[in-house]
Amino acid sequence: MADSKVVIAPFENTPLETIAAVSSTARTTFSSHKTKDLQWRLVQLRKLYWALEDFKPAMVAALDQDLHKGGFEAVFTEVDWVKNDCMFMINNLERFAKTEKLKSPDVPATYSLMNFRIKKEPLGAVLIIGPYNFPIQLLLAPLVGAIGAGCTAVIKPSELTPACAMVIKEVIETRLDRDAFSVVNGGIPETNALMNEKWDKVFFTGSAQVGSIIAKKAAETLTPVCLELGGKNPAFVTKKANLELAARRLMWGKTLNAGQVCMSHNYVMVDKDVVDTFIDFLKAAYKEMFPNGAKASKDLSRIVNARHFHRIKKMLDETKGKIVMGGETDEAELFIEPTAVLVDSLDDSMMQEESFGPVFSIFPVSTLDQALELAPQVHRTPLALMAFGDKAETDRILNSMTSGGACVNDAYFHGAVHTVPFGGVGDSGWGAYRGKASFDTFTHFRTVSETPGWMDRFLRVRYMPYDWSEYKL
Ligand code: NAD
Repeated sequence: MADSKVVIAPFENTPLETIAAVSSTARTTFSSHKTKDLQWRLVQLRKLYWALEDFKPAMVAALDQDLHKGGFEAVFTEVDWVKNDCMFMINNLERFAKTEKLKSPDVPATYSLMNFRIKKEPLGAVLIIGPYNFPIQLLLAPLVGAIGAGCTAVIKPSELTPACAMVIKEVIETRLDRDAFSVVNGGIPETNALMNEKWDKVFFTGSAQVGSIIAKKAAETLTPVCLELGGKNPAFVTKKANLELAARRLMWGKTLNAGQVCMSHNYVMVDKDVVDTFIDFLKAAYKEMFPNGAKASKDLSRIVNARHFHRIKKMLDETKGKIVMGGETDEAELFIEPTAVLVDSLDDSMMQEESFGPVFSIFPVSTLDQALELAPQVHRTPLALMAFGDKAETDRILNSMTSGGACVNDAYFHGAVHTVPFGGVGDSGWGAYRGKASFDTFTHFRTVSETPGWMDRFLRVRYMPYDWSEYKL
């Protein structure tokens, strides 16, 4: 339950005319080289860790205000989530940042007397843009990587979750080095103003449509981007799967944060012989998770705003499929019940776009072959894939279709463990983070060679005039 004593400042856009100065401060601070000092980075990470602890009540309250997110999810998937990333970075930073000496077989014997090494250098001043669904986690987990790597950073939270945006601003600007880290609040004009500045990397999490806008703009100045995008994620359930377990886990996968999760399944391809049993198990899981109905549960988040509520409702209104579970909606509360729709066409509204809500379709298939032929037509490179079946079947699914990451016999876990890299593939994302990947994504791996002077005895051959006698040209 959110703490009613917490006071969150009203949302304010950052004045557009100040944005150039914010970006310039980040660049100037980086040029001062202070962020290169490992001890400085560790201090910032420790400060962030303790700020997360101190601001936990404010964050829980803000998540309640913005998304009606329950306390358990707020702590588990946002505050403690980032604390885990932070602790992992603190404990491993020295190892990640250490210069790597290259030896045989990475360096051929001919060059083994030279010194080849890879220096881990921070990329510079970076911009981190976040979406609304995990408004704390998806900004601060990348920030952990940026701090660890030794970058300065400007953060742009989603304007759709204004309470979280203001808490993040307070955390960053009161607890971390103000010259190195700051927050710009606002929507499209503020993001555009930020994108007009020069960055050493842009780390964007959000929709594919906006990701494409960001990537195009960044390309104008050849600024590298990490894109963490969405997609239409499939789940596969075969006859040999443990149907009860699959139904319960997939039910959870669509109710966490009311399905507003980039990794949640959009549709489930189920063997037609077991589809009725699967639906019965789904309904049983629903009853178990929401004994008094989903609306009465304090654990189910609401849809972020009326626009997204209507987007999801339209998918339900336009479906030609049959609602087999849920279906209730209430605009006043921005409530959408966890809903499953039995569909038989890829053209159905439920299959056409990313649902990003607690609704999904069940698509009966005659064989696994049919499922594997249809799924790439829905989305060839989804962010996530969930496979339920026996070992041979799940191996076949993984080998037949790609995805950013995949879960065998579960939902989410490939992207839920703080030490394991997470990212998309193709149009569901470029690059990865979490664990060591968070450090790497903000790091320049600079190869340095050093040639001892005495080696000229052997290397003289490189100097002109060349001896052509051996070459029959
Ligand atoms: P969004 O793309 O609408 O917004 C993301 C950010 O971009 C926000 O900060 C927003 O202010 C800014 N923005 C929006 N429109 C813009 C424009 N025209 N020009 C410049 N900036 C703009 O995303 P959202 O609706 O907040 O989040 C949902 C999407 O994010 C879903 O598609 C979901 O799959 C994806 N997502 C991906 C991941 C991941 O890790 N891969 C995680 C969460 C969400």
